[in-house]
Amino acid sequence: MLDQAQRILKDVFGYDAFRGNQGAIIERVASGGDALVLMPTGGGKSLCYQVPALLRDGLAVVVSPLIALMDDQVATLDELGVSAVALNSTLSPEQQRDIAERLRRQEIKLLYLAPERLVQPRMLAFLQRLPIGLFAIDEAHCVSQWGHDFRPEYLQLGQLAEFFPHVPRLALTATADKRTREEIVQRLHLENAERFLSSFDRPNIFYRIVPKEQPRKQLLAFLSERKGDAGILYCMSRKKVDDMAAFLTEQGFPALPYHAGLSNELRAFHQKRFLNEEGLIMVATIAFGMGIDKPNVRFVAHLDLPKSLEAYYQETGRAGRDGLPADAWMAYGLQDVIFLKQMLNNSEGDERHKRIEQHKLDAMLALCEETRCRRQVLLGYFDEHLAEPCGHCDNCVDGVQTWDATEPARQALSAIYRSGQRYGVGHLVDILLGRDNEKIRSLGHQHLSVFGLGKSFSEGEWRSLYRQLVARGLADVDLEGYGGLRLNDSCRALLRGEASLELRREQPTKTTKTTASAA
Ligand code: ADP
Ligand code: ZN
Repeated sequence: MLDQAQRILKDVFGYDAFRGNQGAIIERVASGGDALVLMPTGGGKSLCYQVPALLRDGLAVVVSPLIALMDDQVATLDELGVSAVALNSTLSPEQQRDIAERLRRQEIKLLYLAPERLVQPRMLAFLQRLPIGLFAIDEAHCVSQWGHDFRPEYLQLGQLAEFFPHVPRLALTATADKRTREEIVQRLHLENAERFLSSFDRPNIFYRIVPKEQPRKQLLAFLSERKGDAGILYCMSRKKVDDMAAFLTEQGFPALPYHAGLSNELRAFHQKRFLNEEGLIMVATIAFGMGIDKPNVRFVAHLDLPKSLEAYYQETGRAGRDGLPADAWMAYGLQDVIFLKQMLNNSEGDERHKRIEQHKLDAMLALCEETRCRRQVLLGYFDEHLAEPCGHCDNCVDGVQTWDATEPARQALSAIYRSGQRYGVGHLVDILLGRDNEKIRSLGHQHLSVFGLGKSFSEGEWRSLYRQLVARGLADVDLEGYGGLRLNDSCRALLRGEASLELRREQPTKTTKTTASAA
């Protein structure tokens, strides 16, 4: 069987060897077994069903949520001489009838379908009259409500187990955490599926997360060591994307904006330039990235915090697809935390949904404030255990010093409490530093017991302390108002002297080059 698979790999696809688990997965499915495949983006999931599709008799049905992805795959297969079609709503009735006819004559090996289309009773009945070789369910995490991409129509794919009990099914995803995995198994009835877990580690990516001080200056310092490299800079808002693209270009780093507010033509043009020209920086909102396969992206930089580790992993994962050294760099600050918490608070979803999102944001914040190896923490989130610190992230390379912040944290919390739990960090820091200004005096805050108590620390140190308190959930941000800070139940132990607090000591911004990428 594997011999035959090898031959197809070589003759049809032109590749010499299987990558990672591909061989084992193909063997499993081609011999009629179910499989659950977790593989990072770019790992080579498509071959895992395309090769068995050619090895088995009958039609392989591939479920995919995005028409664009289906069309890409069909076009590629076409070029390789494999008969594949995508049935979707953009086809005319005649075209659809024609495809149905060819399916009946068994002239087609792979049929790509959206899930809602597949589960239509007429479609299921039609397929039941055909010999079916296998079902592949791509982007299977869409079945999970825990996942970031839940699509209700995926839930109905569970029926396939009943309708086609003897047809092997394989589910594929690049989203790896355990909860998502269990939901896929349960909802798609893949209890008998063999699980193939690939490592999600991207060893050539160097991770660095720095506290945001003067973001433009920090970014320029980072870029100045990467002149001529192609990279992606992610920003949260369209306006910031436009501003940063103009700013970078002005500073001698040619950059292009990409966001949903630009016309389709301009977006396509920028994307094309980014793919074809050397050394361009794409400044983008998260709208950019799906299906972007540029191998030599040397860095991914974030000036705003992604809202989950899944998003961070996906976005940074666009760097270094060629396996050469690449950087993931992010500057993050208290404003990011406040902004994301506000967004979450104002979002539509129900309580359960908000709790999930909150949990994800907390995991993202924890990575930023982390004192251990970033890679161990990141992979750990996806249930992958890295035995040793990686030696290839800022925490590993620079070392993280921690300090006992118990006493200053109490003072910081006390400043929140004494001033009435309604002021933002700027004012709180003024109180601690004993600054004499209009606002302080008009509020009579110079009489507070904490006034001027914190002079042994700098403004920056107090700001960083507040950021870490909020990130660790020891203080809350007023999300309806202007971002004033409040105490919560978690900080009581600290205030009562029953708990202590170790924080990371912030390092002055490092500009030394961390990877060996070409100068
Ligand atoms: P995924 O769906 O997991 O993101 P793809 O199936 O699109 O990944 O594959 C990513 C790239 O890797 C494609 O360009 C594909 O042709 C290539 N590829 C996959 N498997 C192999 C292999 N065994 N040898 C060489 N290239 C491969
Ligand atoms: Zn590390």
